Amino acid sequence: MGKIIAVANQKGGVGKTTTCVNLTCALKKRGRRVLLVDCDPQGNSTSGMGVDKTATPNCYDMLMNGAAAADCIRSTKYGDVLPANMNLSGCSVELVSSEQREYIMKTALAAVQDDYDFILIDCPPSLELLTINALVAADSVLIPVQCEYYALEGIADLMRSIKMCNKRLNPELTVQGIVMTMYDGRTNLSLQVAEEVKRHFPGQVYATVIPRNVRLSEAPSHGMPVLDYDPYSRGAEAYRMLAEEISAQHE
Ligand code: ATP
Ligand code: MG
Repeated sequence: MGKIIAVANQKGGVGKTTTCVNLTCALKKRGRRVLLVDCDPQGNSTSGMGVDKTATPNCYDMLMNGAAAADCIRSTKYGDVLPANMNLSGCSVELVSSEQREYIMKTALAAVQDDYDFILIDCPPSLELLTINALVAADSVLIPVQCEYYALEGIADLMRSIKMCNKRLNPELTVQGIVMTMYDGRTNLSLQVAEEVKRHFPGQVYATVIPRNVRLSEAPSHGMPVLDYDPYSRGAEAYRMLAEEISAQHE
């Protein structure tokens, strides 16, 4: 049965989507069967994988209209994608009154879990119902953390949500790991933040650190992961190494 990993951090712009897109592609290149579920109304994972945001049925149809996950999935050469767009933002409001509202994604993804080795879920930058659905569906949480001030506070909030999930909704949920992103070797700050996070979360931070790399920020506008856009860039190399570490956790 595939391992479901929610890629979450309620802080915006820390590298969740960049990690989802490139990790999906890197795991596929290692021969793993991978699905990327876009659970963010921004739809950045969808377009980043080269899938049209107007594609339907999509994540909204799966969560709100009972569409089968298998019918929503698009195959790309970088890995499979379950797309999303702006209409997903209606979900949080529309789901509020429904029974089992936290379990809809879990139930929907169970039908395709055997078809994959890894299912990554790209979460929106908040801790609202869409993220809660992802945390309930997931076996573990992968936390991208940007190397900047206040990084620790952000992780503390997320850890509280994970504990809340453990108590009430998903006792099995664990932390897959913390990945430091946008590391800038020219500043002391990046190094200090990375060291501080490692001190607070011993054994949970990946050895691979994702550098700040302009190729990573250019690739999405071409609708492809950096591994294809510029396979020899430092960004591509880093995500290949992260995929190796994560693969090794599930051998
Ligand atoms: P949101 O919370 O809005 O969903 P996010 O956490 O998914 O954001 P990304 O979209 O992955 O974050 O990254 C934010 C911006 O930073 C994007 O423009 C992306 O291209 C850029 N970026 C991400 N990682 C890197 C990196 N390692 N080096 C350079 N730019 C990066
Ligand atoms: Mg994002």
